[in-house]
Amino acid sequence: MKKDFLVKETPGCGKGVFSTKSFRKNQQLFSFGTKIVSWKKANHRSVQLGKNRWLNPSRYDLGYYVNHSCNPNARFEKPHFIAALRPIKPGQEITLDYATLVNIPKWDMPCFCGQNNCRKIIKSYSKLPKNIQKKYKDIISFILK
Ligand SMILES: [Zn+2]
Repeated sequence: MKKDFLVKETPGCGKGVFSTKSFRKNQQLFSFGTKIVSWKKANHRSVQLGKNRWLNPSRYDLGYYVNHSCNPNARFEKPHFIAALRPIKPGQEITLDYATLVNIPKWDMPCFCGQNNCRKIIKSYSKLPKNIQKKYKDIISFILK
């Protein structure tokens, strides 16, 4: 639930979402946001649900502040939740792999997550190496055509 999380500054990454308690793997954490918009109204904080269907968090939603990591501890859960990908401890930042949330072939952004497996440039799910696609295939937010 929302009260179990804190939005605060992260070094070099603007704001981030931090847990204040422990969560089990697969436990639901919070709602990403509930507003659905078209591609035209989507922005860099939006999550893709379909070809022209995006979930657009407002600044009052925790989804607005969740940062990317190439080694994420959370995942999207339909229809609009974030769930734990592995056990989470109090004080840990909640992170998602943005490649599981966007499937626009032209999209990319640099990554400075600092994880050992950092891909340096985050790209669309369809551009991920096959082994990473396989790992993520059950947690992507959008429907593959
Ligand atoms: Zn990275």
